[in-house]
Amino acid sequence: MQYVIIGNGVAGTHAAESIRRLDPHGVITLIAAEEDAPYCRPMISMLLEGSAAAAQLPIRGPDFYDALKIDAVIGKRVRAIDVAARTVTTDAGRRFAFDRLLIASGADPRPIKARGLHLENLFFMRTAAQVRAMLRALPACRRALVLGGGLVGFKAAYALLRRGLAVTLLIRSGHPLSMQVDPQAGAMILASLQEQGLTVRVQAEVTAFEGQTTVRSAHLSDGSTVPCDLVVIGKGVLPALDFVPREAIAVDLGVVVDQYLETSAAGIFAAGDAAEAHDIARKTRWVNAIWPEAVTQGRLAGMNMAGRPTPYRGSLGRNVIRIFDLDVMSGGLVNPPPDARYTVLQHHNPGRRRYRKLVFRYDRLVGMVLVNAIEQGGVLLSLIQGEIPIRIRREALMAPTFNFRQLLPATV
Ligand SMILES: Cc1cc2nc3c(=O)[nH]c(=O)nc-3n(C[C@H](O)[C@H](O)[C@H](O)COP(=O)(O)OP(=O)(O)OC[C@H]3O[C@@H](n4cnc5c(N)ncnc54)[C@H](O)[C@@H]3O)c2cc1C
Repeated sequence: MQYVIIGNGVAGTHAAESIRRLDPHGVITLIAAEEDAPYCRPMISMLLEGSAAAAQLPIRGPDFYDALKIDAVIGKRVRAIDVAARTVTTDAGRRFAFDRLLIASGADPRPIKARGLHLENLFFMRTAAQVRAMLRALPACRRALVLGGGLVGFKAAYALLRRGLAVTLLIRSGHPLSMQVDPQAGAMILASLQEQGLTVRVQAEVTAFEGQTTVRSAHLSDGSTVPCDLVVIGKGVLPALDFVPREAIAVDLGVVVDQYLETSAAGIFAAGDAAEAHDIARKTRWVNAIWPEAVTQGRLAGMNMAGRPTPYRGSLGRNVIRIFDLDVMSGGLVNPPPDARYTVLQHHNPGRRRYRKLVFRYDRLVGMVLVNAIEQGGVLLSLIQGEIPIRIRREALMAPTFNFRQLLPATV
């Protein structure tokens, strides 16, 4: 059996390990655009912050490819997939035949439209190489502008603040992490960042960057100017799929996969940030571009590719984030639509900076946001993930002392 894996991120890496475990003799070719050995992508923001060293990033040793007998084609991009001929072609024109293919190409930062994008010190923050470039620029920088209040924009702003730069964060939604938390938790996060000196601008976009060779300022759509010598563009990500033929493989936002992580083309699978799978809380297809889902999807896709059918129950958005004095944990549907099927319980203690919100659809917990009140967060998450019916008073789940055993039928 000839397996080809596109991408050496966490999804591709786990898929390769699953395949090798089940098929000791199959030929595995892994093609990867990035030259770094597999590493923990979320930790690149800690590298920027200075709280992690480069040596802590790798998730596999340098002998990973050899130990698994993987033919690693590193530093090369896949340019095309020929579904009928069952081949992939790289930028360099090399062609690889496959019986089973995995698309685990992750995501690319969403580009922006503005004048002056050629200037130096404008960065995306998706790869370790981009953060290394930021670190080289950092000593000469004092004022940073961060575009976007999503996970990447937020983490970049936090890291640069901790590095002592004056940081302006430009957020369209009005508060950071609007996909991860609700407006109440968002306001608490924003207040915490502002107390540490962050400047926040809302409802404005950058129209142009100015400078000689290096960026010196940004013009905003409201007519104002923000002086800056470093810019991070964190306006979200899009699945990296420019090589996927859409007439032969169904793509919505990500590559559409079934419960075996197989695409609409037989023998071609997708996993991680590139894949669009069933979402447990939303009950629809969704791209949950998070690390734990990329791990699970990669592992299961590899098993299915190697001939052990193993269904995937679906993905669930979730995050745990530390922000100065706040511990934030969220999962599932945090901002439900106004709909009689949903019940929301909330408790906010502003004095102690604690906040707990639970979202129910009928008798199931489908979402949660916890700020500095993260007790039993793991249990609550497993109730969402397991779609477990709640047969006791819902209010009981709001108590920090809530215990999983309360859900079990009383024993005689
Ligand atoms: C700064 C930052 C912070 C994050 N924080 C968190 C967090 O707190 N919690 C969380 O759960 N998740 C977080 N994430 C998201 C998490 O890192 C991703 O969900 C995860 O890395 C996805 O893994 P993947 O294997 O699908 O894709 P990736 O890790 O993106 O790997 C894809 C690989 O494919 C390669 N590739 C792409 N196109 C091609 C091509 N055409 N040919 C060959 N190779 C190609 C890329 O070079 C890359 O190596 C964060 C991400 C970033 C950037």
